[in-house]
Amino acid sequence: MIVMAQVIPPTSTGNIGLEPLARKAANCTACGLATNRTNVVFGIGDPRADLMFVGEGPGREEDIAGEPFVGKSGKLLDRLMQQELGIVRSQCYIANVVKCRPPNNRNPFEEEISACRPFLEAQIREIDPAVIVTLGNFATRLLLDTTEGIKKVRGRSYRYAIQAGTATARIAAGRMPEKITHLVPTFHPAAALRGGPSVVTEMRADFARAKLLLAQPILQGSDTHPGQRPATPG
Ligand code: SF4
Repeated sequence: MIVMAQVIPPTSTGNIGLEPLARKAANCTACGLATNRTNVVFGIGDPRADLMFVGEGPGREEDIAGEPFVGKSGKLLDRLMQQELGIVRSQCYIANVVKCRPPNNRNPFEEEISACRPFLEAQIREIDPAVIVTLGNFATRLLLDTTEGIKKVRGRSYRYAIQAGTATARIAAGRMPEKITHLVPTFHPAAALRGGPSVVTEMRADFARAKLLLAQPILQGSDTHPGQRPATPG
C-alpha cells in the first residue's frame, strides 16, 4: 500500500547545499517507498562535477550500501565510465530519480517519482553539471518531459535548462534559464546487461557523445530561448 504523506519540497527558496538536502532526504517520508527502505540512497560523487548520471532507483544492494550503482549494473557503469570517459565515479556525480528502493525492484510509481522529483531537481541545481547522462527510461522521460522510450530518444543530445531560485530545473514559460546543460540519454546499465553487446555498444557511443559535449563551452541562457530545447548534433 502506498502511504502518501505531505510532500515538502526540498528547496523552494533557492540553493541550500547538497548536505542539507541529503539530511532532508534521510528523514523523508513523502512517499510509500520510505516504509521498507534500509537506507535513503541520495547520491554520490563530486558535488562540483561537470558530469552527472541519473538512474532510476536503488536496488537491493544499493539499499543496503546506501550508495547508487554498487551491484552488477554499477560495475558496468564504472567500466564504461573509465573506458569511454577516462574517469572514476568520484570524478562525477551519480543520483537516481527515486532515492528509496521500490520493493522487489519494481518500477517506481508515478506518485513516487513526483514526490521525489524535487530532490533530483535540487541536486541538479546544486551540482550545476555541464552534461547530464540519463540512464534508462525513467530518468530520461522525467528530465526530457517526454513519454517516448529510450530507444527512440537516444543517439543524440538535448538541451536542459537550469534555473536558480525555483524548485524546478525546467524552462519555465517566459523565464530565461540561467544556464543550458547538455542532456545525453542512454540505456540503463541493467538493460545493457540483459540486452548484450549491441546495447553496450550503443551506450559506449552515448558516453563518447557526452565526452565531446564536456569539451564544449557552457551555454548561457541568452544563447537560447525559453521553452526551446533544441537538439545539439550527435
Ligand atoms: S523515494 Fe524520495 S520522496 Fe519517497 S520517501 Fe524516499 S526520499 Fe522521500
